[in-house]
Amino acid sequence: MTGPSGPDRRAELAAGLAAVRTRITGACAAAGRDPAGVTMIAVTKTYPAGDAVALAGLGVVDLGENRDQEAAPKAAEVAAAGVTARWHFIGQLQRNKARSVVRYADVVHSVDSARLARALATAAESGRDRPLETLVQVSIDGDPARGGALPGSTDPDRGLDPVAEVLAGAEALRLAGLMAVAPLGWEPERAFARLAEVAAAFRARHPAATALSAGMSGDLEVAIGYGATHVRVGSALLGMRSTLR
Ligand SMILES: *Cc1c(COP(=O)(O)O)cnc(C)c1O
Repeated sequence: MTGPSGPDRRAELAAGLAAVRTRITGACAAAGRDPAGVTMIAVTKTYPAGDAVALAGLGVVDLGENRDQEAAPKAAEVAAAGVTARWHFIGQLQRNKARSVVRYADVVHSVDSARLARALATAAESGRDRPLETLVQVSIDGDPARGGALPGSTDPDRGLDPVAEVLAGAEALRLAGLMAVAPLGWEPERAFARLAEVAAAFRARHPAATALSAGMSGDLEVAIGYGATHVRVGSALLGMRSTLR
């Protein structure tokens, strides 16, 4: 998993990047949006630090990971290579990992409970020198058994508003916006239309929380059409992963 990427791999990544950039500019044109308003996060999970370094060399410094056990050593390796990356934590996060994640992550996209929000606030107070950006992960289908805070729910731990209140009220955190993944079996169109409604209502209450993290390799055009400001792209950029995650 270590070592620099060779010239063949760099060419492969450059080609993947060009293709994804073309898709993003096309989707922005179709939606009448400025491509500068869409940040592409390269999701490097399962791929080595050398790929992250190579992507940074191609101008991609927003990098995403979904597991602390993998992300912490990778972020250290990338930093040791002299690269300043912006790490986005996008996966389900256990509270006992908060202390580790706040040390390398600039943004956590996947805050979906008040308990996790409080753990991040406590960890960020002592573990970093500038605020941690946070997004509330929203459940689009409202299924409490899966990840995501629940829009419209007053549940003090899992309701979208209660989670956002904790993030907005914490000195060491900044509430930046919302994140979602289209539920399995839903058309992206239906999922992101629903998300856009939730985001509009949310922004009325939290005007500074303008980030909308939505869209992956398979559905980024639809997400951009519904206002995504951050797309999280793995396989279209780096290749198919051998494990499903
Ligand atoms: C893996 C992952 C992605 C990237 O998925 P691709 O389909 O490979 O682009 C995006 N978001 C989350 C939360 C992920 O876990």
